[in-house]
Amino acid sequence: MGASRFTVFGHPIAHSLSPRLQALFAAQCGIALEYTATDAPPERFQEIARAFFARDGRGANVTLPDKRLAFELADTRTQAAQRAGVANVLTRQADGRLEAHNTDGAGLIRDMRERHRIELDDRRVLLLGAGGAAQAVAWALLDAGVRELILANRTLERARALADALAAPGRVCISEWDMSGNGGLDRCGAFDLILNATSAGVLGAAMRLPASLVSNTGTAYDLAYGKAAQPFMAWARGAGAARVFDGLGMLVETAADSFEHWHGVRPRTDEALRLLRMP
Ligand code: NDP
Repeated sequence: MGASRFTVFGHPIAHSLSPRLQALFAAQCGIALEYTATDAPPERFQEIARAFFARDGRGANVTLPDKRLAFELADTRTQAAQRAGVANVLTRQADGRLEAHNTDGAGLIRDMRERHRIELDDRRVLLLGAGGAAQAVAWALLDAGVRELILANRTLERARALADALAAPGRVCISEWDMSGNGGLDRCGAFDLILNATSAGVLGAAMRLPASLVSNTGTAYDLAYGKAAQPFMAWARGAGAARVFDGLGMLVETAADSFEHWHGVRPRTDEALRLLRMP
């Protein structure tokens, strides 16, 4: 029997770190697998994904812009996928049905708690963004015990919809966020933790945030990494945050979660992260 087949779907896909990460984990755990990158433009995603799984594909990571399509294609959805409304992992089950899963929430919490020792219990947290990543992360933050979660998004309605879905009125509220100035954010006070789950950095768009959000004992974390994370991280440092992180560690943890989901063994992630950070 040949090695099990896995892939990552996205469009564009050449930049994806997934093949490198999964190959590292496989070597570390002594597991033989074939892991490719598959370009899947959204209008052809269904056809391409179905063909992959029909030809013995076992699992796939899914990245932009196909995460919602992956969620819709699946026959079953884990609770994490249902909460996020998008999927970053597809798995062919023994009975042939496709399962959608989402590792973003768990991956972020693991990176924050285990790698960076960020306290979440009883903390006051601001979450910027209400897209797929923010949805996954919001649930995970509540599970992790944050005291107060304030949601702010360019489109207020999306923040409101997320707050409604979370259904924790005593702990979750929304703030207006006026993109041309401070909107309601300047009245929110300072936070223990500010998470940027917008795609502004990836899109090269500027975000205006008041410095009053940052406490000098607080932490700022951008889910993006590389160049895309630089503007938010620079803003947070300039505003006096005690600690500032990017989302590369989260990416590695989410990849490790999908590896464990498929192979039943958890790889070590520090070595993979060190390699990715090497110039
Ligand atoms: P989505 O497209 O689902 O959501 C994008 C979000 O960004 C929306 O809330 C959108 O607001 C907001 N946004 C877009 N442009 C701007 C802008 N100019 N100013 C303010 N807000 C803006 O993307 P995802 O949720 O999938 O991804 C969000 C970020 O998280 C990306 O940077 C992505 O790279 C990162 N990410 C990192 C992961 C990791 O493992 N490290 C995993 C997953 C995501 P609106 O609703 O108004 O459109």
